[in-house]
Amino acid sequence: MKCSEPPTTPVPVRYRAGVVGESRRVVHPAVLEWDGAIYLARCGEPLPVSQVEVEPHGMPCMKCAALLSLGVAPAHGRRGVRMVGGVIEAA
Ligand SMILES: [Zn+2]
Repeated sequence: MKCSEPPTTPVPVRYRAGVVGESRRVVHPAVLEWDGAIYLARCGEPLPVSQVEVEPHGMPCMKCAALLSLGVAPAHGRRGVRMVGGVIEAA
């Protein structure tokens, strides 16, 4: 991971092996939010930093790709997230 980039630069992240099913291990462009506790994907999915890896070569998230091609503004900063019983979810 490059430290020279500003924190708002999206990075390609996906869940680590074993955290979720293989079908959900797609790569989302995401930015760090919540003081570096989570990556928030363009499609709005919150990804806890401890459960993801930076990986540019996986299968891309179709939702993120569709939003990108439609020119829709990223979800970054538009959706809140909350912690429920130790699980971070979109509010
Ligand atoms: Zn996505």
